[in-house]
Amino acid sequence: MPQTKRDYYEVLGVSRNATQEEIKAAYRRLAKQYHPDRNPENRKEAEEKFKELSEAYEVLADPEKRRLYDAYGHEGVSAQFGPSGFDFGRHFTHTEDLEDIFGDLLRGFSGGGSIFDLLFGSESNRSVRHRSRGRDIVIRMRLSLEEIASGVTKEVTFSRFERCEDCGGVGGTGKTVCGTCRGHGQVRRQSSSIFGQFVQITTCPDCGGTGEQVKNTCVKCGGEGRVRRSRTLKVKIPSGVKSQMPIVLENEGHWGPGGAGDVIIEIEEKEHPYFIREGDDIIVEVPISIPVAVLGGKIKVPTLEGNREVDIPPGTGSGTVLRLRGLGIKRLRGGSGDLLVRVIVHIPRHLSSRERQLYKQLADAASEPVPEPRKPERGA
Ligand SMILES: [Zn+2]
Ligand SMILES: [Zn+2]
Repeated sequence: MPQTKRDYYEVLGVSRNATQEEIKAAYRRLAKQYHPDRNPENRKEAEEKFKELSEAYEVLADPEKRRLYDAYGHEGVSAQFGPSGFDFGRHFTHTEDLEDIFGDLLRGFSGGGSIFDLLFGSESNRSVRHRSRGRDIVIRMRLSLEEIASGVTKEVTFSRFERCEDCGGVGGTGKTVCGTCRGHGQVRRQSSSIFGQFVQITTCPDCGGTGEQVKNTCVKCGGEGRVRRSRTLKVKIPSGVKSQMPIVLENEGHWGPGGAGDVIIEIEEKEHPYFIREGDDIIVEVPISIPVAVLGGKIKVPTLEGNREVDIPPGTGSGTVLRLRGLGIKRLRGGSGDLLVRVIVHIPRHLSSRERQLYKQLADAASEPVPEPRKPERGA
């Protein structure tokens, strides 16, 4: 697809006379940006971007390849990558530039072939399964404010790869020398073109560098070493969880030869019909009648644990906030937030003739004059 290929300099966003350092910096910045964990909504697109970037970097970071590219364009370097084009697992030789960017993601991992699979979870590269850790599974959980306030135990069911018990994750029985690399674990690829001969030594794609292959492929997993199963877990959600605080269940994710990934539970708060949450406090607005505002009285206030009677002191103005201590959300580290009741005086719109008369009498009898206009208090 040479006609659809973008210019490598354009891909990395650098000028044609960029230094090696500038090229490296551009690649590292973009690789981070297209990190799959940062692009959960469009992983596929991020993956494509990542491949494109890595191919561009592979060429421009190598003075010889860059020279060929500068002189002859994509034609000049295509021979390097063979007839099917650039393949991250086989051709990318700058894994050290990714290791310190992605840190933990690459823990317990060595070798070039599978970084891409580790990052993007491709299941196609067979060399990966010899060492990589299983992927994480992200589950979104919607919780009501009541559940968050008191803590709750929830059941989650999801599908994950587990180790195939028939072959113990190996993919089959018996061992034989890998036919592709004849046991060396590496392959030399030689290609010639009008520009000369190219030799590249890479990890064997068929054995992942071990030099061995399974003799009898496992029937159950088809040589994959893993099978997909449904798993149900009871998850204890502590009170006071926030959407920014995912719950991590270690080693409950996909199985991999290098260990299992994690299950990451992301909390999403459901809208509540009455309450809004502010940290560990919850806020509700309660209208009261004019007589209750003036004379005081008892009103019913909803709380997270049902209705509760609350005393309104005489002379309570509209907008007054009553703080009911301890009726908010239980904190993760003990204690509770408060329930804030914002009292709003309800002004009736439809009066009976008797009410109208009574309000007129009230107006005539008013002993306390209404205060003059005044400067509002800030932040009130
Ligand atoms: Zn198996
Ligand atoms: Zn091999």
